[in-house]
Parts: sequence; structure tokens; C-alpha cells
Amino acid sequence: MSQFMVAVLGGDGIGPEVTAEAARVLETALRSAGHRIALTEALVGQAAIAAEGAAISDATMKLCQRSDAILFGAVGGAGVGNPNAKAQPEHALFRLRKELALFANLRPVRALPALLGASTLKREVVRGVDLLVVRELTGGLYFGKPSEIRETAHGMEAVDTMTYTEAEIERIVRYAFELARGRRKNVTSVDKANVLSCSRLWRRVTDRVAEEYSDVALRHLLVDSCAMALIRSPREFDVIVTENMFGDILTDEASMLAGSMGMLPSASLGTQRTQHGQRGLYEPIHGTAPDITGQSKANPLAAILSAALLARYSLGLPAVADAIERAVLEVVSAGYRTLDIATAKGRVVSTREMGEQVLGRL
Ligand code: NAD
Repeated sequence: MSQFMVAVLGGDGIGPEVTAEAARVLETALRSAGHRIALTEALVGQAAIAAEGAAISDATMKLCQRSDAILFGAVGGAGVGNPNAKAQPEHALFRLRKELALFANLRPVRALPALLGASTLKREVVRGVDLLVVRELTGGLYFGKPSEIRETAHGMEAVDTMTYTEAEIERIVRYAFELARGRRKNVTSVDKANVLSCSRLWRRVTDRVAEEYSDVALRHLLVDSCAMALIRSPREFDVIVTENMFGDILTDEASMLAGSMGMLPSASLGTQRTQHGQRGLYEPIHGTAPDITGQSKANPLAAILSAALLARYSLGLPAVADAIERAVLEVVSAGYRTLDIATAKGRVVSTREMGEQVLGRL
């Protein structure tokens, strides 16, 4: 029997709280399906800067490179921290993404029937929403150089650089088309081609890739128009593919279709394969939520659903993934709620109790 290896990096704020529940659920789901798993915890983010001098140490990077997958919480503190400090918590994520070549970030958004009332949008707008955002993760504005604040003869100025190569665009767009084939065969490519050169190249490459997928429908949408359509008629979307920053922003918006950021998992995948599947990093889309840290109010379901994605993509265990997702659905349908998704009839529980409820159904 093979043994699966998973690195558990809880990070900062509510990260460790929600990741602990996800790790327990993953371990139990695997064991009850007869598999062996070794979970190894390590520090990341502010906690790692304080204890080890870097947002992620070389030893932790090695652990991640040896593991089948990484279960990640969130990093960062209240506010944007000290922008002048050399070590920034976010560097941990950037290093992991770069060194593990995690170029594709998958963010599924589903409106669960039991949670329709938790969304700020009308029930009839969110009912039946089932979309997947495929966000490019290692290029664009977040990685382009130069990126700095500098002094000039006329005062300070700042520069950020957005670059995309044809190859970077092609691999993420192809990934989206492949995923669309297993869904409703509908791709929306989101850009800002009326203004940005990167977007014009993006559109050209996407059209070329689309020729190989005549069974999949493609449309292009400007990012501003997409932001509007996501809340006007979200059911029209199946797979959305977009560059790094647009995907970052649109998925926070899309999280409200599911009721809360606390419900949205993500998978970051790339080119590295392990014995069992693709090496990947799995994390809720939310951050460290300093406003509720340490109060046992955080919703662990996004982290738990991320563990389900981990079982599906990195461990090659779709039945285990289905079992975790089913358990989450049952718990929510039974009326258990953390505060962020509380509805009039629901029973409000703590982070730990929510984890217990999911465990009890595995
Ligand atoms: P956030 O996602 O941490 O919080 C936004 C709001 O959503 C807050 O009101 C918070 O209480 C609520 N929320 C988030 N997750 C929740 C959950 N699981 N259950 C219940 N409520 C939840 O975003 P922010 O406040 O803008 O950022 C805080 C810190 O997190 C910053 O330092 C930011 O850089 C960092 N961050 C990290 C990541 C990451 O590690 N991947 C992602 C986003 C933000």
C-alpha cells in the first residue's frame, strides 16, 4: 500500500484554525478509505519570519518538494504590514508558486441550495450557479519587473510591470479548454484588450488555441463587463479563464455567489507530477481574517473543500474527494452554520464544531 505525503502549512491568523480542521478531515477520509497518509506541519508567513527569518525556509521548501501536495492556510497580518520590511509573508506563496511551477489556479464556485439565503444577492440570481475560474498564477503584474517606488527629479513615482509570453498564455488557456471538456464545454476568456497589449496578445493566442477545441464554445469578455455579468447573470458562466490580477479580483467577487469567502476552495497546479497525480497547493481563497482570529468564528469549509480538491488532483482519489464534498453538503443542509453564512434558521457553531460535524459524516 502506498503512503501519501502532505505538507501542512497553516500560516497566520485564521490559517492554522481552518487548516487544522481540513487536515483532520483529510486524514480521516483517507484512513476510512483504507489509505495511509503522513501529514507534516511547518511554519509559513509571519510565523516563519519570526521563528526562522524567512517567509518560507529552505527546509520547508524541501518538504513541499518531497510531498504529493501542500495544504495551505493563509499568510499575512492586519493591514498590509510594513511594506519596507525585507521579508514579506506573501513571499512564501510567490516562492511556492514559482519553484513548484504552479501556473494554474482553479477556483470552483458553487451556490449550494442550502446557502442561497446566505448570499447578499437574490436567490433567483444565485440559484444553480456552478462555475470554475481558471486564473493564471505565475505571470502578469504580480511578477513583472521592474516593480518599485522610486525617486525622480519631479517627486516619487511607482512602477509595476505586466508581461505575458505567448507560451504562458497558451498553457493556461489550453488547461481551461481541457477542463471545459469535462464540464459544460463553455469558456469565457476575460481580458482588457481595448487598453492592454498583454490582453491583445492573450486574445490572439486564445483564438488560436480555440481552433483545436471546436467542441467547446468560446467568448471574449472585457474584465469590467465580466465583473458586472458575474452579479447580473452568473449562471451564464461555465469556465472563466483569465490573467493573474483579474482572476484574483473576480474570484473575491464570485465568492459572494457562494455566500462567503469561507466557502471557496482553490487548487494551484502546474507541471510537476508525483507518483499519484499532479503536485499541487490547496488553500481557501480567503486571507488571514485578523478581525476574527482566535475567536473560533472562522468558517473551515473552504479549507475542507480544498482538502477534497487535494484528494482529487494530487492523490488521484476522486472517491475520497466526493466523500468529503458530500459530507460538507450534508452538514450545511442539516443547518450547521458559522457566523459568515448564518441564516435565520441555521444553528451557529464554532470552527471546531463545524469540523467535527464534517468528520462525523465521513
Ligand atoms: P480576508 O480574506 O482575510 O478577510 C476578508 C473578510 O472576510 C473579513 O471580514 C474576514 O473576517 C472574512 N473572512 C475571511 N475568511 C473567512 C472565513 N473562513 N470565515 C469567516 N469569515 C471569513 O481579507 P483581508 O482582510 O483583505 O486580508 C487580511 C490579510 O490576509 C492580509 O494580510 C492579506 O494580505 C492576507 N491575504 C492572504 C491570502 C493568502 O494567504 N492566500 C489571501 C488574501 C489575503
